[in-house]
Amino acid sequence: MKENIVIIGGGIAGMEAANQLLQLGYLPIIVEQTDHLGGHVAQWHKLFPDMSSSQEIVSNLKERIKDAHVHLETKVKGINSLGNRYNIMLNNGINIVTKAVLMSTGFSLFDASKKEEYGYGVYDHVITNGDLEAWFNGKTDKRIPPQPKAIGFVHCVGSRDLKAGNSQCSKVCCTTAIKQAIEIKERFPDTEVYCFYMDLRLFGKKYEDFYIQAQRDFGVHFIRGRVSEVGETLDGLVQVKAEDTLVGKPLKVTLDLLVLMSGMVCNSQVTPLAEMLRLEIDDDDFLKSKDNVYGIIESNRAGIFYAGACTGTKTIPETVSEARAAALCIHNYLKNNF
Ligand SMILES: Cc1cc2nc3c(=O)[nH]c(=O)nc-3n(C[C@H](O)[C@H](O)[C@H](O)COP(=O)(O)OP(=O)(O)OC[C@H]3O[C@@H](n4cnc5c(N)ncnc54)[C@H](O)[C@@H]3O)c2cc1C
Ligand code: SF4
Repeated sequence: MKENIVIIGGGIAGMEAANQLLQLGYLPIIVEQTDHLGGHVAQWHKLFPDMSSSQEIVSNLKERIKDAHVHLETKVKGINSLGNRYNIMLNNGINIVTKAVLMSTGFSLFDASKKEEYGYGVYDHVITNGDLEAWFNGKTDKRIPPQPKAIGFVHCVGSRDLKAGNSQCSKVCCTTAIKQAIEIKERFPDTEVYCFYMDLRLFGKKYEDFYIQAQRDFGVHFIRGRVSEVGETLDGLVQVKAEDTLVGKPLKVTLDLLVLMSGMVCNSQVTPLAEMLRLEIDDDDFLKSKDNVYGIIESNRAGIFYAGACTGTKTIPETVSEARAAALCIHNYLKNNF
């Protein structure tokens, strides 16, 4: 009989780990709280930097893990340690005994309404990056005008911001803004697109090319400066005041749509689960790795491993690499300890 490995969270991290564990001869059991696999990536449209399809990545992975056991709309209700094993009780009445658990519970998108100055949930034409991805995927959104003349993107919403309780850079949102700006220009070539940024953090392979492409081929305007004020005009448009710090002048633009680049923050729903498993929480509220250089996928408990955005902001390639590494670590842990 194949050895059970419980994976909590069925996003890209959990799915890729399941894929590798199947190939290593284990039976991965995914516990996913929503009604679908794929996590956040299932909600995105195209992916930076090469505009690959999120839906294709998720459906290819689903196909590869069809022999795994998947419990959708399920959560962990309780956990007991049985020596060097864990007895995991699910809220669907099923109990699983396992020697290893993978936490792949991911992140949450920062709640943009907490930054009241940007008017999310107040002004008619202010949306988030997550809302825009949903619209790219075909969801109706009345806040998005049919023929926009001008659209702005505000970087660092809820990231690098002590007042918002998150001093960390979210890592993916500069590149996501560029990706979304290009997708807008592909749909509406005549729309003026502005990105308001503090610094551009484009650290990955081909990300810099992507930025050059946005300016050279699509005419996206990058304005270095914090947005100081957002308001609404009498005809319901969004008025943005900023300081262009490169030319040292104040700037006022009227936009048909303002997109807030909400950052990746910890998934606070995970706290009760972390308490049940006695896992340490880091000072940025993500799950705390054994260390941040060599032990990123290891926890403070024997037999419990991490993969993906549950320990901090990650891109998809980083998430997938960690998931593969975690599968191998689980395999070695079982080989060496049982
Ligand atoms: C707007 C935006 C666009 C992005 N675009 C790109 C891109 O183009 N390219 C790129 O490389 N990266 C991109 N990223 C980053 C990418 O989304 C992450 O790298 C990826 O989602 C991390 O996957 P994950 O599986 O670790 O987490 P998640 O996607 O968050 O998945 C976690 C899963 O765990 C489940 N879960 C959570 N808690 C529990 C629980 N207690 N019990 C059961 N299930 C639970 C959740 O429901 C979810 O299904 C983007 C991020 C953002 C914010
Ligand atoms: S990736 Fe860019 S937008 Fe996101 S927090 Fe970092 S600097 Fe700000």
